[in-house]
Amino acid sequence: MNTQEIITTAEEHLFHTYNRYQISLDRGEGVHLYDADGKEYVDFGAGIAVFALGYNNKEYNDALKAQIDKLIHTSNYFYNEPAAKAAKAITEVSGMDRVFFTNSGTEAIEGAIKLAKKYAYLKDDSTDHEIIAMQHSFHGRSMGALAVTGNRHYQEAFGPMIPGIKFAQYNNLASVEELVNDKTCAIIFETVQGEGGIYPAKPEFIKGVRKLCDEKGILLILDEIQCGMGRTGTMFAYEQYGVKPDILTVAKALGCGVPVGAFLAREEVAKALVPGDHGTTYGGNPLACAAAVKALELFKKQNVLDNVKKVSAYLEKKLDEIVAEYDYVVERRGLGLMQGLEINTDVKDLKKVIAACLDNGLILFTAGTNVIRFVPPLVISEADVDEMITKLKKALA
Ligand SMILES: *Cc1c(COP(=O)(O)O)cnc(C)c1O
Repeated sequence: MNTQEIITTAEEHLFHTYNRYQISLDRGEGVHLYDADGKEYVDFGAGIAVFALGYNNKEYNDALKAQIDKLIHTSNYFYNEPAAKAAKAITEVSGMDRVFFTNSGTEAIEGAIKLAKKYAYLKDDSTDHEIIAMQHSFHGRSMGALAVTGNRHYQEAFGPMIPGIKFAQYNNLASVEELVNDKTCAIIFETVQGEGGIYPAKPEFIKGVRKLCDEKGILLILDEIQCGMGRTGTMFAYEQYGVKPDILTVAKALGCGVPVGAFLAREEVAKALVPGDHGTTYGGNPLACAAAVKALELFKKQNVLDNVKKVSAYLEKKLDEIVAEYDYVVERRGLGLMQGLEINTDVKDLKKVIAACLDNGLILFTAGTNVIRFVPPLVISEADVDEMITKLKKALA
């Protein structure tokens, strides 16, 4: 099919839940993508922070092909080697004790919410526990995850939300303290807010919430679905703050392209869930887990974290130059290879900037209503940053 046939067929049959760009992507190589007409794009979106290792990584592809030929799916009523290995690897790098594999980020959040509620139920037998979430957060589109997503626009038509959710202001400890009562079972937030506009947690906020949780016996759920898996220069962003969550959610780059997410917890919390409490047909199947195992292996082998630290310093410098150069670029925010440029949208139309980038062969996503988001594959080089900057400047001109 040519591009027009692909678009026409898709528009005729898919739900219209996205305003898609008039581009059909066909294949990828390293940090570049190619559309159905053969046009090349440098990719600073990575399928929304997913393809950390870049496209067409031979060792990763070979591992998946080998697993496809062996066994793609069985049932969680049996054991399988990729799931055992993936569980060992992800608990080791996160410092958590146990993991439950899901198929997506939103399901990881659902599991985290259920785990927090069950843990609290075992302590006091009550079934009206509350969770504190943050304004401008994003945790996913299923009903539980949507309920803790602090964005009225996403929630409005789908009410009623699950009860007992309260919203505090991100990076405002006092606003969290105000909402805590003896029904509070968990506090959930992203270590770096993604969709909300790329806001890293302030150290005093995350440390303060951790302390509050310890004092009151509340569980801290950190959502690292977007900022985790090396994106910020450490395997998980919380490492940089010297705190650890009680429950952690991961997805996006966990499988580097194959749908797999997870929620993890420390032992005392994890044991609250017993057979019959939670399950999934596909979650943690051999193919998904083989992807996670290989991805984690390649992170070490290719020194991905070192590359993130090195290249992100360069990216920050280049983005700071753009802030200095263009009046309507308000500021840069971010951590590692998760960066945002806030645009004064009264002066510059963000949609037009992104469209001009695509014309120039650069893929970028937005975050919130006024931020250009930079979440490239974690294997990018300084030369790739230069290519991106040249194309971005052309789009800004
Ligand atoms: C993307 C995202 C989710 C939802 O993940 P899906 O796989 O799209 O369900 C949840 N939390 C954060 C922080 C995310 O960035």
